[in-house]
Amino acid sequence: MKDQSLSILSSALATGSLTDPEIRARTAGTPAHRILPEANVIKIGGQSFIDRGRTAVFPLLEELKRNLPHHKMIIGTGAGTRARHAYSVGVDLGMPTGVLSVLGTFVSMQNARMLHYLLADQGIPFIEPIQFAQLPLYLAERQAVLFFGMPPYTFWQPNPRVGRLPPNRTDTGTWLVSETFGARSMIYIKDEDGLYTADPKKDKHAKQIPDITVSELRAMNLPDLVIEHSVLDMMEHAENRRSVQIINGLVEGNLTRALNGEKVGTIIRAD
Ligand code: ADP
Ligand code: MG
Repeated sequence: MKDQSLSILSSALATGSLTDPEIRARTAGTPAHRILPEANVIKIGGQSFIDRGRTAVFPLLEELKRNLPHHKMIIGTGAGTRARHAYSVGVDLGMPTGVLSVLGTFVSMQNARMLHYLLADQGIPFIEPIQFAQLPLYLAERQAVLFFGMPPYTFWQPNPRVGRLPPNRTDTGTWLVSETFGARSMIYIKDEDGLYTADPKKDKHAKQIPDITVSELRAMNLPDLVIEHSVLDMMEHAENRRSVQIINGLVEGNLTRALNGEKVGTIIRAD
């Protein structure tokens, strides 16, 4: 029976059109294999975290080290203020989205490299996309790897609906790693206690939201969000990573709680 369904699918794929919705629907018959179900994907914010320098970064790295014996971690970095500066000069000089994406990638790489040197004594490697094939080995040997959070779309980055900034940045790049590897979690480390009804830096009355679905969040039509919109779009079609957690990394213990599966910060779910 299984062989028969395989041959039906393979002849449909070989002879049919790959844009045929019926053929496409059939390819989802087998659940996606979870490649690294024990690994946690963690994004350390650029603007919201690394740009704060040692007062923010050093305590977090200490907490991260304390968790190494207990949790596997695939750690991606944001870009932050230096990328925003590069985007502003790039926009002024007429650079297209794909070129702005290249610029942002290198800033996110600068942050990954700095964290890498700070964690070098733990034997944690920094890997570029081309080295992702070795990621399982590094995780097995050292429990963690560092990578730059920008998805490596570079020139192939699609244009945004509005304006010219790359729509898929480091929140999205890290989410995609968690989805593809069927990881255990997607934890965003920022400087606020998760998602609020408005940017808490601009609105004192903003309320924290502990748990919300993507459709509830869309219905609220918030003026600004704590993560990139493309994460929400992608989550709706996710096979594995159907929830994400956003925590305040400035509060000691939050990362440990999130790694232990505790509800801290905000959880956003696909449904
Ligand atoms: P990163 O450093 O990971 O790129 P960002 O700076 O892009 O993070 O996004 C996090 C920031 O988003 C927070 O510091 C917060 O000031 C802001 N923000 C905007 N809207 C919201 C909201 N609705 N809830 C919480 N934070 C928000
Ligand atoms: Mg951001």
